[in-house]
Amino acid sequence: MSIHVIRHPREMMGWSDAARVRGERIGFVPTMGYLHAGHLSLMREARRRASKVVASIFVNPTQFGPSEDLSRYPRDFARDCAMMETVPVEVVFAPEASHMYPPRAQTWVEVTELTRGLCGKGRPGHFRGVTTVVAKLFNIVKPHFAFFGEKDFQQLRAIQRMVADLNFDIEIVPMPIVREADNLAMSSRNAYLTPEQHCDALALSRAIAAARKNFACACSAEELVRLATKILRRPRIAVEYVEVVDAETLEPATSLDVPVVMAIAARVGKTRLIDNVLLSKGAGPTSHPKDSPGA
Ligand code: AMP
Repeated sequence: MSIHVIRHPREMMGWSDAARVRGERIGFVPTMGYLHAGHLSLMREARRRASKVVASIFVNPTQFGPSEDLSRYPRDFARDCAMMETVPVEVVFAPEASHMYPPRAQTWVEVTELTRGLCGKGRPGHFRGVTTVVAKLFNIVKPHFAFFGEKDFQQLRAIQRMVADLNFDIEIVPMPIVREADNLAMSSRNAYLTPEQHCDALALSRAIAAARKNFACACSAEELVRLATKILRRPRIAVEYVEVVDAETLEPATSLDVPVVMAIAARVGKTRLIDNVLLSKGAGPTSHPKDSPGA
């Protein structure tokens, strides 16, 4: 099977309309490409739930700040297509930015409260770009299900909120974080890391594993933050934030008796990395970095 590449929003809409008329159930995985096993896990789950799988590859300019890595974001469309054919994904929607954002575009979709803290603080406008492009992709691809990784936990919550608030008739399916064999959370941006920086970056997953391991006996969010901060205190790591927040509101956690998320953002060299774990006394964590000696 060779994957069907669609470049234009109109053509994508036509394909989806015809699929829906035939009674197909469309599963959709939005990505920025340079795929890895994390992306493929979303596509495989889409394959399992839907009769047709569409993935998008679009490095969305409106979610990058002026000093961010839009122009050097890693890209390899041929390799991505070969990986998607193994799932298999039927259609890849890979539009031009000029077709997604016509010259006089001036409409934004913004989830206000959930995007204020965590990554929202250091990346003003980022989530507005994400929710706007995802809303547009939903209108173009018209999926029944859409799959998002818990790796980008704040993004997942913002999209769930947007779907509820704007009555999108789409089931959002959250998917657990996929990690490298050494526990580093998979990310297209890991390609920027030198072997030495990759080693430094493991402090993030170690801090996450420590939080997970100590959650049951921890008395407070502050105690978990202190523990993680200590592990992240290394010469070549610049921590942007380490926070424990309520898993629903993303407000600073005042109790560990409700589900919380420990979330970390840090720079290793110029590369900004994030990681998180959902911690809950009831159901247990959904993301399982293996306990490591550093924990
Ligand atoms: P991106 O291409 O980075 O925009 O990611 C596209 C989708 O893949 C988003 O829903 C991400 O949360 C998800 N994703 C990225 N990395 C991982 C990972 N390591 N495990 C699971 N999902 C991921």
